Amino acid sequence: MAAESSFKVVLLGEGCVGKTSLINRYTRNAFVPDHKTTLQASFQEKRLNIGGKRVKLAIWDTAGQERFHALGPIYYRDANGALLVYDITDTESFLKVKNWVKELRTMLGKDVVLTIAANKSDLERSRQVDEAEADRYAASVGASHIHTSAKADRNVKEVFLDLTKRMLESV
Ligand code: GDP
Ligand code: MG
Repeated sequence: MAAESSFKVVLLGEGCVGKTSLINRYTRNAFVPDHKTTLQASFQEKRLNIGGKRVKLAIWDTAGQERFHALGPIYYRDANGALLVYDITDTESFLKVKNWVKELRTMLGKDVVLTIAANKSDLERSRQVDEAEADRYAASVGASHIHTSAKADRNVKEVFLDLTKRMLESV
């Protein structure tokens, strides 16, 4: 049997965009509206099988340090992939994604696989971020751009699958 591939995936994005909620939805199929912020960065393991290839993901979540601009290279070091999350109702959070992309490309190089999650897509009526512009930006940095909702359980599996398939292709 072929060996299992192990990947480290980090979630990055402004506080409150839904990073922890996406992980909870993906790994436990749960949505907890007001979960407490944990004190330490933590990771969840998820195993999957893609066309006969066995994969183990270590999915890292922040402990909320992003709120104090205190999330540094120790967190994303050795990451194979990053899920960059913004909230479609919050323009600032999209600008923050652009900053993270620059930082990751500088610190980790071009091999890190990037997927951008446009989260809270259930709040389409309050959208602030221009979808076409976000599409163009993502394409320009070689990232996928996928609309998700942790709340409505929309595209959550898909966004992790997209990232995983592209990490498999890049090894
Ligand atoms: P984090 O700080 O990025 O980890 O964000 P959280 O996962 O803690 O979520 C912040 C807030 O946004 C919480 O009140 C969540 O319930 C809410 N939230 C997360 N995902 C969604 C979503 O897809 N839709 C909506 N409407 N709310 C969400
Ligand atoms: Mg969180």
